[in-house]
Amino acid sequence: MISVAEAIQIVRQQTPALVAERVELTQVLGRVLAEDVVADTDLPPFDRSQMDGYAVRAEDAKNAPVRLRIVGESAAGRGWHQQLEEGQAVRIMTGAPVPLGADCVQQVELTHELRDGTIVELLESVEAGRSVVKRGAEIRAGEVVLRAGTTINAAMMAVLAAFGYADVQVYRKPRVAVLATGTELVPVNQKPGQDQIRDSNNYSISAYAELAGAVVERLPLTGDETSLLQAQIAGAAKRCDLIVTSGGVSMGVYDKTKAALKELEAELFFERVALRPGKPTVFARLPNGTLVFGLPGNPVSVAVTFNLFARTALLAMQGATEPALKPETAALARSVKGTNERESYLPAQLTTNDDAELIAFPLKWGGSSDFVAFALTTALVIVPANIKSIEAGSLVTVLRLT
Ligand code: AMP
Ligand code: MG
Repeated sequence: MISVAEAIQIVRQQTPALVAERVELTQVLGRVLAEDVVADTDLPPFDRSQMDGYAVRAEDAKNAPVRLRIVGESAAGRGWHQQLEEGQAVRIMTGAPVPLGADCVQQVELTHELRDGTIVELLESVEAGRSVVKRGAEIRAGEVVLRAGTTINAAMMAVLAAFGYADVQVYRKPRVAVLATGTELVPVNQKPGQDQIRDSNNYSISAYAELAGAVVERLPLTGDETSLLQAQIAGAAKRCDLIVTSGGVSMGVYDKTKAALKELEAELFFERVALRPGKPTVFARLPNGTLVFGLPGNPVSVAVTFNLFARTALLAMQGATEPALKPETAALARSVKGTNERESYLPAQLTTNDDAELIAFPLKWGGSSDFVAFALTTALVIVPANIKSIEAGSLVTVLRLT
């Protein structure tokens, strides 16, 4: 049995990044950058006014109140491109270029115009540089503004647009096939008969995979027969980068996922992880390079093992620099119990208290089949192996789920 950290390490080592593709800007939200994004202009591209007011020479306003002659107007998109001389002012708007010769902007609230707008009176002096953002003060042309490996968020869309990235080099989306095993399963639109349950894993796995940036294909329910599993896996491998199965990896007579993988001459990297819930998790590679996660059948085990391992693989495929969930530290609101020889990943809710400390509330749950309780989970509390219990108030490591 290997540790969770070792298993994640193996997943990272065995998962190559997919090739990059050029994608139109409107379609790249949530994708991972495959190129550094470089500024093609200074920002601001000219000395820019931060206020509506008057561009003047600070020297001329020293002995305010003073009267200056209005010689022109500079608006955003329509600047005044002459030289401002001693005793002159240019009416200026927010975002407009500051004329040559002016070194500051007095805000309109501290001025008033006289004689049909030919004269402005500045009521207060104004120091050089006031309300002017110098060309290149934010970014200089040639600077890297976003690094390859970054997941593109909404704010970054503005950065890409501002520097002319009409299309963007991003990693290809992983194609994932999802396969639920189990003779007891019926589709969601059927009423389960005697001894049957509805398949729910395919829906959580697909959703987690989509959140991790994948395009998902759902395979038909396949029962527990090795040859059928084998055929489904072999067919999906031709189209997909990753196959995620659920169920059929424990020690029961009808647990056939590993048998099917062996028939297909898959290389098994691990098949047991020192983890609760989720011990019998399988990670393998088929001869054509398609990766396979064989997750346990219990819905909570599915959620935990997907997020620890399959999510990491999907982000690594997309070139993410930090593909695994990021550990954070929280204070425990209730005591929790550990397990012999296995790390526990327990469902919890995260909140902050009035001192801005992160607090983890472990949820009451009925074990790895209790997917209804798990629906409220926002994070996993990690309890190291061989620890009987951790008391309320202790600091623990948590993983936030998305
Ligand atoms: P297994 O790992 O195949 O022994 O399954 C463990 C438990 O998870 C059993 O109670 C199964 O009925 C349940 N289970 C397996 N697959 C699914 C699924 N797709 N949806 C909901 N529950 C499942
Ligand atoms: Mg089963």
